[in-house]
Amino acid sequence: MGKGFFKVPVAKNEPILSYAPGTKERENVLSAYKSMYDSKVEVPLYINGEYIKSGVTQTMSPPHDHQHIVGTYHTANQNHVEQSISTALEARKTWAELPWEQRAGIFLRAAELIAGPYRAKINAATMMAQSKTVHQAEIDAACEFIDFLRFNVQFMTEIYSDQPQSTSDAWNRIEYRPLEGFTYAVTPFNFTAIAGNLPACMALMGNVVVWKPSDSQVYSAKVIMDVFNEAGVPPGVINVVFGDPVMITNTVLSSPDFAGLHFTGSTFVFKELWKQIGNNIHKYKTYPRIVGETGGKDFIVAHKSANPKQVATGIVRGAFEFQGQKCSAASRAYIPESLWADVKSFVLKDIDSIKMGAPEDLSNFMTAVIHEGSFDKIAKYINAAKNNPDAKIIAGGGYDKSKGYFIEPTVILTTNPHYETMSTELFGPVITIYVYKDEDYAETLKLVDETSAYALTGAIFSTDRYAADQATKALVNAAGNFYINDKPTGAVVGQQPFGGARASGTNDKAGSALNLLRWVSPRMIKETFVSPSDYKYPFLD
Ligand code: NAD
Repeated sequence: MGKGFFKVPVAKNEPILSYAPGTKERENVLSAYKSMYDSKVEVPLYINGEYIKSGVTQTMSPPHDHQHIVGTYHTANQNHVEQSISTALEARKTWAELPWEQRAGIFLRAAELIAGPYRAKINAATMMAQSKTVHQAEIDAACEFIDFLRFNVQFMTEIYSDQPQSTSDAWNRIEYRPLEGFTYAVTPFNFTAIAGNLPACMALMGNVVVWKPSDSQVYSAKVIMDVFNEAGVPPGVINVVFGDPVMITNTVLSSPDFAGLHFTGSTFVFKELWKQIGNNIHKYKTYPRIVGETGGKDFIVAHKSANPKQVATGIVRGAFEFQGQKCSAASRAYIPESLWADVKSFVLKDIDSIKMGAPEDLSNFMTAVIHEGSFDKIAKYINAAKNNPDAKIIAGGGYDKSKGYFIEPTVILTTNPHYETMSTELFGPVITIYVYKDEDYAETLKLVDETSAYALTGAIFSTDRYAADQATKALVNAAGNFYINDKPTGAVVGQQPFGGARASGTNDKAGSALNLLRWVSPRMIKETFVSPSDYKYPFLD
């Protein structure tokens, strides 16, 4: 920045549109969905600003309608990945030198494109690719993505303006340089916003990126690429490769110029990538930054003072929205004996009224899970619960993959607090509930803390302030995002920076300056105005 200390627009959260009957947004999204459903898209790789067709393709189908093909995407071979790396390194020469306000302008423009002309398209693509209801698509693909883009620009300027003290004879400055080399973004299927944010926030800080989206999110990743393109991200800055995750990752991680991994996905995959980076450490020119946000086994604890209707609503929304496929989804709950009859009856009544089906029918609260692998895994745990004396299915338990991967909202009641679905992430619409004796509150909090390897989100419902405080203290390391009297999902950028520790990730808090700090390598510059010209200090006289 040579000619002014520029102020960026103050970031504000994008308002969530209602999609109520009769609204313009409802008409627009349904029409975009229909035209996508009735046509076939071809998604190329995107390398050095060019659309590349490898000729080796995979088909894409909506999870709620798996025999219907909505397009194909081209997959990368090793040459494509190597080209992405070399092209990124070439682009770095000019991108890293571009004044920050120009980078900010690009990503602020991307936010406005999503808020306006691309809103219906990115939401419809997310409904199609990931089977989100319109509300789930709106809070993810439109609002959260826009918020990431706007708030990150503001956080970037806050970071840049954080400067050391100086004296009258020496001026101290910190330059927040991008990492030396290129960065690698590996993104999950479940949030279009995360898929876009992981590469975008690294690029915003001046880095160049190879981005590998999930095979189950390619359809909406294409819209993200179109937005970045139209917003003016220059060729080579963000390169997109689809296909074999192992080959792509092996190629990326063998490059000496690999400088950072920005991952969101499952714990097992992240640990494998970390190991691989460790094994390659002697190859790299710098120590790569490793950021990973991973799985969860997120809890709701109710104290005997809680309002049972509010607890039930927290369970139903927390566990079943987006079919429980949020890393933050409530998947285990601890309810005191004295509240259980009420909580149970409210939960069962709510579940009775839940409609499930394709997302283009806007009266559906739930749709399909992402793919057959996920469907089969969840069905296996449901079957096991049906046959285990420690468990009883008190709601749902049905599933059907004839047309789409549909699984009923399912509640397992267990008498064993260590039953496997109290600790294993299923990533589906299944919650397991353990009923504890009211007087065992302290022991139950200990149980919550020690049952699972994860520590992503969790909630305490209590109207007793002492009990809420007791839980806040006892569960200090059990969740990176902790909620009092609210469901454990729905973090908003700029309000609740998101991430967890233990097996849930490096807790670098997406949607905050803490995350952006991982993508810079500060250089300290001290400038002395009148340099000493005699090596002898006065005490030597
Ligand atoms: P996943 O781990 O299957 O895939 C994530 C990404 O890793 C995809 O791009 C995939 O292609 C890639 N991948 C898979 N195997 C790989 C390998 N061997 N080498 C290299 N890359 C590989 O996860 P998913 O099913 O897409 O997403 C769901 C998971 O993500 C859940 O565990 C969920 O909790 C987690 N998640 C966490 C957060 C968070 O913020 N903590 C947010 C969203 C999702």
